[in-house]
Amino acid sequence: MAWETVMGLEVHVELATKSKIFCSCTTEFGGEPNSHCCPVCTGMPGTLPVVNRQVVNYAMKAGIALNCDITRYNKFDRKNYFYPDLPKAYQISQLYLPICRNGRVPIETESGLKKDIRIHEIHMEEDAGKLIHDEFNDETKCDYNRCGVPLIEIVSEPDFRSAEEVIAYLTKLKSTLEYLGVSDCKMQEGSMRADVNLSVRQAGSEEFGTRTEMKNLNSFKAIAKAINFEAKRQIDVIERGGKVIQETRRWDDNKDKSYAMRSKENAQDYRYFPEPDLPPIEIDDQWYNSVKDSLPELAEAKKQRYISEFSLPEYDANMITGQKALADFFEETTALCGNPKEVSNWIMGELMRKLGDEGIEAKDMKLTPKALSTLIGLVEKKTINRNKAKEIFAIAFNEDLDVEKYVKDNNLEQVSDEGLVLEIVKNVIAANSKAVDDYNSGNKKAIGFLMGQCMKELKGKGDPGVVNKLLNQELNK
Ligand SMILES: [Zn+2]
Repeated sequence: MAWETVMGLEVHVELATKSKIFCSCTTEFGGEPNSHCCPVCTGMPGTLPVVNRQVVNYAMKAGIALNCDITRYNKFDRKNYFYPDLPKAYQISQLYLPICRNGRVPIETESGLKKDIRIHEIHMEEDAGKLIHDEFNDETKCDYNRCGVPLIEIVSEPDFRSAEEVIAYLTKLKSTLEYLGVSDCKMQEGSMRADVNLSVRQAGSEEFGTRTEMKNLNSFKAIAKAINFEAKRQIDVIERGGKVIQETRRWDDNKDKSYAMRSKENAQDYRYFPEPDLPPIEIDDQWYNSVKDSLPELAEAKKQRYISEFSLPEYDANMITGQKALADFFEETTALCGNPKEVSNWIMGELMRKLGDEGIEAKDMKLTPKALSTLIGLVEKKTINRNKAKEIFAIAFNEDLDVEKYVKDNNLEQVSDEGLVLEIVKNVIAANSKAVDDYNSGNKKAIGFLMGQCMKELKGKGDPGVVNKLLNQELNK
C-alpha cells in the first residue's frame, strides 16, 4: 500500500528588536538569569503592557515579503494556561485577528521540485521564560529573561509532502527573514524553532489522517530525521491495525526517536479572549506604505540582477543569494576587485567547501572581502600562483589576514624567471630518467610527475605556465 505524508509547519521566530514586546527590557540572548526582567514581563499585578511599534513593523515586513495580506485592524488575545515559565498564567498572542493572512512561499527542493507553500497566518506574541531542570539537586529553576521577547508565529497550510519540501521551505524562510533583518534566525539559540504537524494517509486520499505534533525542533538535520521517523511510526501503527493518537511528541535527537509528551490540547482549552489591556492596532495607508517601501532587495530580485548585471550562471547566482551574508560578501568583494566572475568562482569553489567542512554559515566566517579581493588581484598580476592562493585562502578563512604582508613575509611570490626555471627543469630531467623514458616511449602522463617534481623544487611557487612550457621544450628536444 502506498502512503503519503502530510505536514503543516508552525515556525516561531524571535524578532531582533532591541527591547521586548510589551516593556523596555533588553532582548539580548543570555545574561545572568532574571537580569533582563521588570514588573511587566514578570507579570506583576497592576502592571500594563505597551506594544513595541518595531514589533509590528517587523511582523508587517515579514508578512509583505511572504506575500501575505496585512490585517489593517488587528488585535491581541489572551491564551490562558498555567506553566512555571509563564508567570502571568496567560500569553498575549493573536487568535481572532492576526496581523498577516493568506501568504505564499515559492520553494524549490534539492531534486528540483517547484511548488508554493501557502501561509495560513502570521501572528505576534510574547515568548515564555526558560526552565532549567537540575537533576543533580532534583530541582527546577526559572529564568524569566526570555519572557516577553517578541515572536512571530508563521503557520503554514498542510502543504508539505516530504522532509525535503520542509527543509526547502525553512531554508527560504530563514533566508528571507535574514534579508529583512527582522531576526537573526539562530536555530541553535532558539531564535527560530519549528513545530511539525504530521499525519499519514493512503496515496490519493483527500481526507486527512490523525496528526501528531513534534515540538521545538532546532536543527534542519533533526527536523528531517524526526519527520522520517514519525511517518514510519504512524504507518506501522495503522498497518498493525492500531490508531494514531492525537498528541504532542518530543524528538530525542540523541536517541533518534520520538516519544509522547502529552495529549494535544484543543484551542478552547486555552479559553482565549480579547486582551483587555491593549487597544487594537490600526495600520493606516501611511504606516503600511512606509514599511512596504523600506523592504530591501530580496534574494529572488538579487539573483536576477546577478544574472543580468554580472553574467553569473543561474546556479551560482542562486547559491550566492541563498544566504544574505554570502550575497553581501560577493558584492563587497566585487566592488573592491572589479572581477565578479572570479569572486563567484572562489565562492562556489573554495569558500563553499570550507563552509561545508567547518559546518558554519557565511555570517560566522572570518574571511573579509579585502582578503579575497587582494588574493584575486595577486593571482591576476601573476604575483602568486593559484595553488599558493588556495593555501593562503585557507588561512584567511579563519583569521583576519593581511594577505599582501603575508605573501611578502613568507616569500611566496611566484617564480616566473625563465633562466631559473630552466635550470630546475634540466636538473629534474637528469634525475628522473625512468619518467623521461616512459614519456619518450609514449606514456604522455609521465609529464605530470615531472611537472610535480619541478614544482616541488620551486617550493610550489613556480609559474605553472612557464614550467609547463620549458618542460615540454626540453623533453621534445
Ligand atoms: Zn520587562
